[in-house]
Amino acid sequence: MMKQYMETKSQYQDCILFYRLGDFYEMFFDDALTASRELEITLTGKNCGQEERAPMCGVPYHAVESYLNKLVSKGYKVAICEQVEDPKTAKGIVKREVVRIVTPGTNLDTQALDESKNNYIMCIVYIADRYGVSVADITTGDYFVTEIEDSARLMDEIYRFSPSEIICNEAFYMSGMDLDGMRDRLGITIYSLDAWYFDDAVCRQKLLDHFKVSSFAGLGLADYDCGVISAGALLQYLLETQKNDLSNLTHITPYTSGKFMMLDSSTRRNLELCETLREKQKRGSLLWVLDKTKTAMGARTLRKYIEQPLIDKKEIEKRLDAVQELKNQAISREELREYLSPVYDLERLIMKITYGSANPRDLTAFRTSLEMLPPIRYILQDMQCDLLRSIMEELDPLEDLCTLITNAIREEPPIAMKEGNIIRDGYNEEVDKLRRAKSDGKDWLAKLENDEREKTGIKNLRIKYNKVFGYYLEVTNSYKDLVPEYYTRKQTLANAERYITPELKELEDMILGAEDKLYALEYELYTEVRETVAAEVERIQQTAKAVAALDVFASLALVAERNNYVRPKINEKGVIDIKEGRHPVVERMIPNDMFIANDTYLDDKKHRISIITGPNMAGKSTYMRQTALIALMAQVGSFVPAKSANIGISDRIFTRVGASDDLASGQSTFMVEMTEVANILRNATSKSLLILDEIGRGTSTFDGLSIAWAVVEYISDSRLLGAKTLFATHYHELTELEGKIENVNNYCIAVKEKGDDIVFLRKIVKGGADKSYGIQVAKLAGVPDLVINRAKEIVEELSEGDITTRVSEIATKDKVSRKKPKVKKYDEVDIAQMSLFDTVKDDDVLEELKSLDVGNMTPIDALNTIYRLQNKL
Ligand code: ADP
Repeated sequence: MMKQYMETKSQYQDCILFYRLGDFYEMFFDDALTASRELEITLTGKNCGQEERAPMCGVPYHAVESYLNKLVSKGYKVAICEQVEDPKTAKGIVKREVVRIVTPGTNLDTQALDESKNNYIMCIVYIADRYGVSVADITTGDYFVTEIEDSARLMDEIYRFSPSEIICNEAFYMSGMDLDGMRDRLGITIYSLDAWYFDDAVCRQKLLDHFKVSSFAGLGLADYDCGVISAGALLQYLLETQKNDLSNLTHITPYTSGKFMMLDSSTRRNLELCETLREKQKRGSLLWVLDKTKTAMGARTLRKYIEQPLIDKKEIEKRLDAVQELKNQAISREELREYLSPVYDLERLIMKITYGSANPRDLTAFRTSLEMLPPIRYILQDMQCDLLRSIMEELDPLEDLCTLITNAIREEPPIAMKEGNIIRDGYNEEVDKLRRAKSDGKDWLAKLENDEREKTGIKNLRIKYNKVFGYYLEVTNSYKDLVPEYYTRKQTLANAERYITPELKELEDMILGAEDKLYALEYELYTEVRETVAAEVERIQQTAKAVAALDVFASLALVAERNNYVRPKINEKGVIDIKEGRHPVVERMIPNDMFIANDTYLDDKKHRISIITGPNMAGKSTYMRQTALIALMAQVGSFVPAKSANIGISDRIFTRVGASDDLASGQSTFMVEMTEVANILRNATSKSLLILDEIGRGTSTFDGLSIAWAVVEYISDSRLLGAKTLFATHYHELTELEGKIENVNNYCIAVKEKGDDIVFLRKIVKGGADKSYGIQVAKLAGVPDLVINRAKEIVEELSEGDITTRVSEIATKDKVSRKKPKVKKYDEVDIAQMSLFDTVKDDDVLEELKSLDVGNMTPIDALNTIYRLQNKL
């Protein structure tokens, strides 16, 4: 057996091998060490003909899924090796084969997967400076392919799909992309495959064979060279791991990323599209507000729509028409939603059906779903807009399949496939006959019992059944003398004896034989029905897509109605004009009607950049995000939270907001901030919308101000960039730019002073803020009075005259041990000439280095400290 094990293992080196032995899956050697550690199961040993015992551990077969999922979610690949012949009839060692390989991107266990999310596997090939990218979800049949020119766009695509597994060619693996970052932060399993997977001719042939076509033009892939290699390699990998013909991958959809609004990873995170920045949960995200879908397919599709807003006016208008019609037709919409409610996840059900793993209950769930289709289609007939009409046309009522399942399968069948009770009475004559034999058998037995009592005079004679003897006649000791010759004794008990007769045996054969035959026949008929359904996979998938889209539009319409949204106008002139806009999420999080609405106006001419000032907590970032979210929602095809909105299409939205959580990757906050700014300035176009919050906060005042200033100049210049921008800053000096640069305008968020305190009005008004109210905000936050009062004193003293001398005076006067900062007064400084850190001498760095307690530092502390010290030099 160990020899057989070793042979199998040698073919699956990169997998943990689950080797079936009786009721267990066993693992040996390194696999056992890994699995026992990861699964927290006991490690034992087994003699294996070598000097030392082989490390071994095992999991029971009936609980295998949970162990499997645990390993796979940690990024391992697991090969499942089953006994493929019956141990009772096998000669010598039982034959075993690997029947499936489970990897993070190919897990089929729908219980373990989040139904509102796709589980994607991505294949990336890097060839001649281009990336061929394909993505598939084998649980739903989605299969996409594209080609990408540059690595930044590739990262955007990776974030958009967030696959759980990436396979790639060696060239990509070695191309210097941040693979560790993807592993650590996104939890993606990434590895390269052997070169032969990416052989052009093999890849092409695989695809042609799978889709049963003779040319790539038919697949729409004529112009995709490295895309085809990627898609072919992915298909090859899936065939190998699934060991099945993948008949639910019925289409491959080529797309160009230019069809959608580009969103980079930090913008996706910052705008909290599908999960919140900190808690990484759906509650509090845009998806949370918009998702009132009734089906798993609808939920996944809405997520996809939000992740990829459109940029084509016609397409956006089509969606808006659908939302509008369903909003107006509230009664029909609610009726539709009621019919959608019982619809199961058709995409994942059809996967189980084509894989042959669907059980009878899955089929009845499928039927229940199909029953909803005709009424849904009927209601859709009254709809007028293009999109809803095409949804209706694509929605195949699948009545043939529904009738078949209704006629063939019982109302409430068991989960087991081989224990009968599946097929409905009247569907098949043979089944009915065998069933009759089973139930009539009871009557036959009763009659025989009666006859024997009369014949023998044994009044309490009973026919009974047990698993060992089958049917027998039981006679108590008091009647023992009356037992006739033709009874054969089988067993003697303390107070009774058990007998059989030839007639009883004959009946038994008929009754029990009928049962075996019945179960086998029922199983056969059941698989026939399942296969008939599986053959219609394309119709079912098309219908599932139509149902999903309908569910999304009904959800958007309902949200529009409930939350008081309006239909945005869409323009291609680059004007963003929002009247009384609201933040879709914040308004849902605060008590009724407490949200203060604000206007936004941006265009390509005089209103390209708004500089927004105001104290902390005034509502600057809420205001800016609300503008970005309204623009994004409009391009998704949703109504928007505003009194009116006219939205110029943006090709990209960029955000640079607040502290980033990238500190964990060892970069300083300032470095992260500047990397993001660099990315924005390089990749934005005049059609992009930029949200920049507090740029330059992470460094000294003058550096920060200078950088912020230069960034505004750069963005405002249409020869350089010319993007529409909301720019929040605490540098009041930036308000000087209004009037100097023609397309810059100042806004501030109003606050009211009330004695010593301030009240936030949350209203955006023209003009710059003149004070920062930092101390009042600190007070609101609960900083102790002693500190607040002292801060007030210092502010007052500082504001009297030259800042440098004042600081030194205050410091010496109060004998506070504080290094004397050589801060120059702003207007004395030639900003361009300023060196970054002219206030600190190298000695300080040495001193600090000496005093570090290296032994007690975390790696991140150490990195940050080195970074800080280096900057002082
Ligand atoms: P800033 O960016 O100026 O520091 P935020 O945008 O973070 O301020 O806003 C602070 C808090 O004020 C938010 O958490 C939100 O609850 C509240 N807020 C912001 N804008 C509004 C508004 N328009 N109406 C009501 N509450 C608001």
